Amino acid sequence: MAFEGLLEDPVIQKYLHELVGPTGMPVAAAPPDGEVTDEELAQELNLELNDVRRALFILYENDLASYRRLRDEDSGWLTYLWTFEYDQIPENLEEEMHRLLEALDEREEYERMHEFYLCEICSIRFEFGEAMDFGFECPECGSPLEAMENEQLIEAMNGRIEALAEELHVER
Ligand SMILES: [Zn+2]
Repeated sequence: MAFEGLLEDPVIQKYLHELVGPTGMPVAAAPPDGEVTDEELAQELNLELNDVRRALFILYENDLASYRRLRDEDSGWLTYLWTFEYDQIPENLEEEMHRLLEALDEREEYERMHEFYLCEICSIRFEFGEAMDFGFECPECGSPLEAMENEQLIEAMNGRIEALAEELHVER
């Protein structure tokens, strides 16, 4: 198998699983060397042809597979020959981690810049302005809204942000 080392990485397994889902995982986890048709894959993996096609299409959309079409000269039927392009995976993963880091940064700033109030009965959180509009009473159940600390959450986020930044070699 061409990408054996890559596929032993649990991060990559999780990434593929998130892309194609449990039904598509047999396709994504067993990329053959060279070209293969969807029918061959379905037969080999004992899967529905539609499930194989769906997984291949998702891989294609994420630049992890490519295909070329062949027309059978006698029947006129088109055959799709698929090639798995898993060399892209590390790069895709890194891009995804950069996006995650940005999202975490934004979220951390939002948490830091706002005050929150909580209805402990409904577990609904309100920003200060909203809580004030509701007269510090839960609009759902009428309970008083209590000021809510989010320092622990912010700390946890900062831990994740630091770890990600370090892994991505991003200067903070
Ligand atoms: Zn409530």
